[in-house]
Amino acid sequence: MSNPDWTSYSIETQGVRAGQHRTPEAEHSDAIFPTSSYVFSSAEEAADRFSGKTPGNIYSRFTNPTVRAFEQRLAIMEGAERAMATASGMAAINCVCMGLLRSGDHVVCSQSVFGNSALMFKNIMAKFDVTTTFVKLDDMAQWQQALQPNTRFLFVETPSNPLGTLVDIRKLADLAHANGSLLVVDNVYCTPALQKPLSLGADLVVHSATKYLDGQGRCIGGAVVGSDELIEKEIYPILRTCGPTMSPFNAWVFHKGLETLSLRMEKHCQNALDVAQWLEQQPAVDNVYYTGLSSHPQHELAKQQQTGFGGIVSFDVKGGQANAWKVIDGTQMISITANLGDVKTMITHPTTTTHGRLTEEERSKAGIGDSLLRLAVGLENVEDIKADLARGFASL
Ligand SMILES: *Cc1c(COP(=O)(O)O)cnc(C)c1O
Repeated sequence: MSNPDWTSYSIETQGVRAGQHRTPEAEHSDAIFPTSSYVFSSAEEAADRFSGKTPGNIYSRFTNPTVRAFEQRLAIMEGAERAMATASGMAAINCVCMGLLRSGDHVVCSQSVFGNSALMFKNIMAKFDVTTTFVKLDDMAQWQQALQPNTRFLFVETPSNPLGTLVDIRKLADLAHANGSLLVVDNVYCTPALQKPLSLGADLVVHSATKYLDGQGRCIGGAVVGSDELIEKEIYPILRTCGPTMSPFNAWVFHKGLETLSLRMEKHCQNALDVAQWLEQQPAVDNVYYTGLSSHPQHELAKQQQTGFGGIVSFDVKGGQANAWKVIDGTQMISITANLGDVKTMITHPTTTTHGRLTEEERSKAGIGDSLLRLAVGLENVEDIKADLARGFASL
């Protein structure tokens, strides 16, 4: 049986079928290749591999069959030519920075990105004389004004976490390209099951596979996805030389995770919308932030560029941090943890955890106040999730 061209299949089928290469053992589920190196049949074959004359495995820092299987499946699901797996989501962002940037370059970054992504530009890249301008995610004029002749790329996470603010990816890509810059999109929140930034004009997508791609909170990993040319020329040399490599075991977990991604995302969206609508009716709640609500100012844009609204719901509790903490401590099932993208529902107080290293001013610019709670809605029965939150509200 030949391997079909999976690009013409739907994403559910791609997740289950693409990227598998059966060994002569005819295993139905994928094998794992936990090996650091490979043997060659002759000195000449070894020389040809190393020089790049013939393709094939060399050393698992940069070539491993299990990692490649995950990369191929993810690339097809994102509608891309190529994906490159990395040790973590931050390693993926770091590879993009080290690959694309040189001293004297400039980046425009959304204010509302994952805390460590902001610190990557502000603290780490700044050491190498790369400057970054932070702009309001949904303010196209600010993006435009921040552009400089040396702007190498624009970096954005849409929808943002925790507030679920969006930017029009197509418009931002046009703006970047008109300036000779690239657009890099962090697609952790939606995954390719709900949004395909490359099809909207983005040049690179970065992932924390740690979140929904695994989906069950087991492994740390990441990926950079894009055109063969950009990845081969600019990004892959960083992996090969600097070594932020994904382990074969983790790649296998993510590869298997992709098999259920579409199904899980559909249920995350369904549960999250139900919880968001219920929260809107709770007297102890001030605002609910979820793009799936028709009250959300960017509901129409979300419908246009996403096929679902995702699993993250945030809300303000009346009475500030003291009451927000009481709600958390009043629940009994929901996990108090700062992660997202797990089957288990999680609750987080962003200002004292995930966003604790930002300054007060940075947080207020991003619209994150101390009455805010973030829910990463999981796959338990939604009535149990709401009942647990009701326990939290009852403790006020
Ligand atoms: C978690 C996360 C990252 C970083 O990923 P790690 O796997 O934890 O390194 C980057 N972006 C977003 C949006 C995330 O949620």
